[in-house]
Amino acid sequence: MWRNKRISNWLTLCLAMLIVSSPAASAQIDQPVLSCDFGDVVIDLSFSSARLNSCKQTEDTVFSVSTAPENVPINPSPWYAFKLYAETPQDITVYLHYPVSRHRYLPKISSDGVNWQPIAEQDLQLLFDGKTIKMRLQAGPEALWVAGQEIVDNRFYDEFTNELANLDFIDRETLGLSADGRPVYMLKTTTPAERYIVLIGRQHPPEISGALAMTHFVERILRDEPLANAFRAQYGLLITPNMNPDGVEHGFWRHNMGGIDLNRDWGPFTQPETRLMRDQLNRFLEPGMPRLSLFLDFHSTNRDVFYTPTREVTQHLPEFTDRWLSQVQARMQQIYADYEVEAVPGYNAESAVAKNWISQVFGVPAITVEIGDETPRAMIHSLAVIAAEEMMTLLLSLEN
Ligand SMILES: [Zn+2]
Repeated sequence: MWRNKRISNWLTLCLAMLIVSSPAASAQIDQPVLSCDFGDVVIDLSFSSARLNSCKQTEDTVFSVSTAPENVPINPSPWYAFKLYAETPQDITVYLHYPVSRHRYLPKISSDGVNWQPIAEQDLQLLFDGKTIKMRLQAGPEALWVAGQEIVDNRFYDEFTNELANLDFIDRETLGLSADGRPVYMLKTTTPAERYIVLIGRQHPPEISGALAMTHFVERILRDEPLANAFRAQYGLLITPNMNPDGVEHGFWRHNMGGIDLNRDWGPFTQPETRLMRDQLNRFLEPGMPRLSLFLDFHSTNRDVFYTPTREVTQHLPEFTDRWLSQVQARMQQIYADYEVEAVPGYNAESAVAKNWISQVFGVPAITVEIGDETPRAMIHSLAVIAAEEMMTLLLSLEN
């Protein structure tokens, strides 16, 4: 069944290549269809977000696997996700190779695909300058999930957006379809508002820590309590939590189905996913429409860092960013005494990242929120909730 789906994805892609002759559409996307059934031991890749590009058995209980990107060149974000089964419970050694990258994501393991924990320190070894990791895994008849991060797949976003759309004041819209025909969902408040904030996430599929922060952030703003209610009485919300459903589905390292880094496409707009969002945002420029106040784009990197616009390019609410982040730091330090918010201001009109395009076109604070890959999940939760609360408080005081 899943193989048929992948084949039909291939056909769609081939068709798209025939129809569109732009360089983006002709990118070579590497979509391996692997069988890793070794009899006693099975490495299963038949699920959403799975990725390995090769697998072989080298000894009875020793396996060698690799992950490679969808196409190159690409930033290093070597995603992997597989399930391991063994007929009889046994210790399995898996060597994971990164032929075109280095190790980045600490393995997370799970027995149900929902509750995850980092692999125990003694079960992980870094080899060959980070080009290989060696994992010791306890396999058995029940699935052992192994992945670079918790798996947050398209079904999660379907359920997340569907559930929030049950709120009276939220609608879920399908903005349009990805290159491969998957819905790109947007949550939208239905109460009339003169000002809007826009949140997007998952331009880069493996960046789960940013995705976790975004879900906590969104849930905080949509709560039924005085601050959030007061905020939503003044501000509308457009929330696109999953910009790259094809990349999420296929376990891509970074790009979309066109082999393009979506966060380098805000300017060229060669890809359907970025165009969908651009068209929504451009409506704020039409006469009589509400105005955009703030744009946040959630990502992950090796630490928590906020890429902020320079003050010069921020004509509207130039004081927002510094004040917001200093409030966030003060409150984080009440919980984590040493926590420091790192803000890196920058603006480069040549760089087609979302935040630069927004800065240029709208002159509002546009911030890339980067969460550390291994930031403790409880800390991500605190940071997201505090950031949401301080954003609401500050916008209400600055603009009303
Ligand atoms: Zn990113």
